[in-house]
Amino acid sequence: MIADAARPAILPAPLDFVLAALEAEDALCERGEREGEAIAVLPPALAQRLDVPEESRLAVYPAQKGDVSVGIGSPLLEKLVAEARARAPVASVRLELEPPRLGHVKAVVARFVLRNGLAEVLSVSFGSAVYAVASVAYVIEADDRREGLTRLIVHATDGGEPDAATGGHLDLTWPDAVVRPSPTPLSAPGAAPWLALRTERAVREAAAPVLAEVRRRHARDHARITAYFADLTAEARAPRRRADAKVVEAKVAHLLADRDAKLRDLGGRFAVKITCSPAAAVVAEVPAALVSVRLRRRKEAREIVLRVPAGAQSVDRICCEGCGGTTGKPAACDERMHLLCEGCAPTAQGRIACPACGRKR
Ligand SMILES: [Zn+2]
Ligand SMILES: [Zn+2]
Repeated sequence: MIADAARPAILPAPLDFVLAALEAEDALCERGEREGEAIAVLPPALAQRLDVPEESRLAVYPAQKGDVSVGIGSPLLEKLVAEARARAPVASVRLELEPPRLGHVKAVVARFVLRNGLAEVLSVSFGSAVYAVASVAYVIEADDRREGLTRLIVHATDGGEPDAATGGHLDLTWPDAVVRPSPTPLSAPGAAPWLALRTERAVREAAAPVLAEVRRRHARDHARITAYFADLTAEARAPRRRADAKVVEAKVAHLLADRDAKLRDLGGRFAVKITCSPAAAVVAEVPAALVSVRLRRRKEAREIVLRVPAGAQSVDRICCEGCGGTTGKPAACDERMHLLCEGCAPTAQGRIACPACGRKR
C-alpha cells in the first residue's frame, strides 16, 4: 500500500475493526468493561462462515478458555481483513466547498492555451461536476513480488481530469473535512472506459522502474552463469592429465547442455506477470465553474466547455481525442479541430497527422 507520508496513519484498532465488520453483518456486539474485550452474538450463518461460536467473548489478549482472539495475526482478524480487501466498495460523496469565484475562474481560464490557435471565453456558469475516483491495486510478480496502489480520477462523462489540488480533496484514504456523504447515490457509467485505459498506462508507468530492476538482476544472473560455465568448459578443454579428445568433447557438450538448461530456467524465474484489481471507487460531486470557450484555428472554429472545479488552480485537463489521454495544452487538427495532446501532436507548427481523423477514414 502507498501511504501519504504527510498525514498521520490512523488505523482502527483490531477490536474496533472486528466489531465494525461483524456489526455490518448483523452481529450484536457489546464492549466489555476492560479495554480490548467484547461480547459478540453472531447470526448462525456468519458464525459458521467465520468459524467462531455464535456467542463468544472477543479479546485482543485472550485470557479465558473459549476467548476468541482478535489480535494482530488472529485467524478471525485475518479473515475479516481478507474479506474487506476482496470487496471493492463504491461510495458517493460531495465536496462541501464554495464554488470558485469568478475572478479566480477568469484568471485560471486565461492560462489555458490552444497551442496552434486562439481561445476566447464566451460565458461562465456555475454548477457542479461529477468525477469517478478509482483506487486500483496492482501486483508485479517476477523473481520477487511487489504490490502497489494507484489512484485515478476522471470526469464522469468527458474523461477530463482535475488538477492535483482538487484531486487531493478526493483522496479518501484520509478524507478531509470537506468530504461529505452524498444525499443521493451518484453514478458515473461513462467513466469506466477512461479508467480502464488510464489504469493500464498508470500501472505500466509505476511498473517501469521495477521491471528495469528485474531486467538488471536477470542480466546479472545470466552473466554469472555464462561466466561460470565458460570457466568449466575451458578447464575441461585443457585437462591437467592427457585425455582422449572424444571424452573431452563429451564433457564439454554435457556442460553446455547443463548451462543452457540453467539459462532457460532463469527465463522462467524472471518472467514478469502484472495483475490489477479495483480496490475501491468513489463518485464525487464537486461545485464547479463551467466556461464556454470558442477555439479558433485558421478559418475553423469549435466551441468546448472548460471546467474549473472548486479548489482547483487550473482548468481540468481535457481528453485527447487522439489517444484518450489528457492534456492541458491541446493542439487542434486542421480538418476537424480534434483536440490532441503533446504526444499525439508534438509540434503545433504545420500540418498535424491527426490520429482521430486517421481512424475515421
Ligand atoms: Zn493524445
Ligand atoms: Zn482530426
